[in-house]
Amino acid sequence: MSTVETTDSRQRAEPEARTLRNYVAGSWVEAEAPDGTLEDRDPATGELAARIPLSGASDIDVAVRAAREAQPAWRDVAPQRRARAVFALREALSERREEIARLVTADMGKTLGDARGEVGRGIESVEAACAIPHLLKGQNLEGVARGVDVELVRQPVGVVAAITPFNFPAMIPLWFLPYAIACGNSFVLKPSERDPRPSELIFEIIDSVDELPDGILNLVHGARDAVNGLLDHPGVDAISFVGQASTARYIAERSAANGKRFQALGGAKNSLVVMPDADLEVTVPAIMGSAFGAAGQRCLAGSVCVLVGDRGRQDEVLAALSEAASELGVGPGDAEGTEVCPLVAPEARERVAEAIERAAGEGAELILDGRGDPGPAKTMLGPSILATEDPESELARTELFGPLLAVVRAPDLEAALEFVNGSRYGNAGSIFTTSGGAARAYRYGAQAGMLGVNIGVAAPISWFPFSGWKDSIDGDLHANGDDAVEFYTRKKVVTSRW
Ligand code: NAD
Repeated sequence: MSTVETTDSRQRAEPEARTLRNYVAGSWVEAEAPDGTLEDRDPATGELAARIPLSGASDIDVAVRAAREAQPAWRDVAPQRRARAVFALREALSERREEIARLVTADMGKTLGDARGEVGRGIESVEAACAIPHLLKGQNLEGVARGVDVELVRQPVGVVAAITPFNFPAMIPLWFLPYAIACGNSFVLKPSERDPRPSELIFEIIDSVDELPDGILNLVHGARDAVNGLLDHPGVDAISFVGQASTARYIAERSAANGKRFQALGGAKNSLVVMPDADLEVTVPAIMGSAFGAAGQRCLAGSVCVLVGDRGRQDEVLAALSEAASELGVGPGDAEGTEVCPLVAPEARERVAEAIERAAGEGAELILDGRGDPGPAKTMLGPSILATEDPESELARTELFGPLLAVVRAPDLEAALEFVNGSRYGNAGSIFTTSGGAARAYRYGAQAGMLGVNIGVAAPISWFPFSGWKDSIDGDLHANGDDAVEFYTRKKVVTSRW
């Protein structure tokens, strides 16, 4: 691991820690926050950037009431006019995309290149939602009986809320927000309490867009109490969630108990299958980006590498992976040459370092140990690679969400697929091969919703659903694409005789 020089990130810190405010009915309001505030710190420097109010049920109630009040008039706005408002939002976000990206780096820690990519992907979802007049079109069938016709129309569900994770603080709110309002709903966002400042900036931008009426888009900061407030509020019709699998299950159960529609995207443990015929010039850099980019804190991160073939070829690939990983630059996200950024918080680093210790203690071979200097904020962790003979170990099966690549071995593709499909998760996975037949067999047999062939991070563009399987989702409709329109609308079928 090489260490990248730290730039002076003091310049970007707040002069004094202000407390964030909620955005309700077109105004910035102080939260009542009965349980006080949390600290929002720069993951690279540890500097205090802001205080986050822990909004409670009364803060949620104010936002949901505002959203309910604004929604009927917004529903009456013609779909093509709503699309124009989303277009205006797209323009406003694009103008300030660099500012959003820099804030993502300062608040979450990822490299500036990654943050720019994230913001680009978020804006892409806004672009996809601009097609709403087309996407909302219904169906009809004429003459089902004498003088009788049937038509299906789509109507908004009402007030919808999104609860989002820390790892994509700009993109994931933008997976939901544009589709929700384009369909004629009003919206409440509860961003991650670990890095909510990019959401605050997005709402500042929303505030500047005249085409978006007050009350349609609302922002409430907080943690569990705010989430429970949304899940229990009778004025919320649907919940979109992204986060850990255990939280996703909780959200699904409580939403269902309260009669709400939900989509809850959960965790992942994605496998990267390397066939003996893989081109290592393509494969090795792709695996580096997948396993160690954003310090492994992506739901599409490849966290287990399945080496296929005879022992000699497996060892050759492993040596190439280890050599490449040892050369990755580790440092703050805004420093030139950083490839592995800090973890989001010191506790996250501690958790991953402990998992490395446990895996090594249980017999995994420590090929590369990234546990060096943790840096000023105790969040830096270099890339680690551990090879295990136990395909059911914690290392091979549990989402560890850090710059840690587990390696398992398989004699052939059939055995590799057996390992891949033994996971409780089914978010994503990739195969590296020069054989069309192997790629086809993988595509046919792998039980995951987003697959890559010679691609490290198989992230679908926004016109397709983000389509995890198994414990990577509770619910059936995914984020983005047609699924988003399906989730944010109710279908009504009208049978008429004239
Ligand atoms: P998290 O589950 O800790 O938090 C997500 C949201 O849930 C936050 O807004 C948080 O305030 C809220 N929350 C957390 N615990 C809660 C509780 N007990 N009760 C009520 N609300 C609660 O997730 P995270 O650590 O912020 O994000 C990382 C996780 O998200 C990883 O598991 C990653 O794989 C997953 N993820 C999945 C996808 C996907 O598309 N499937 C995308 C990105 C991230």
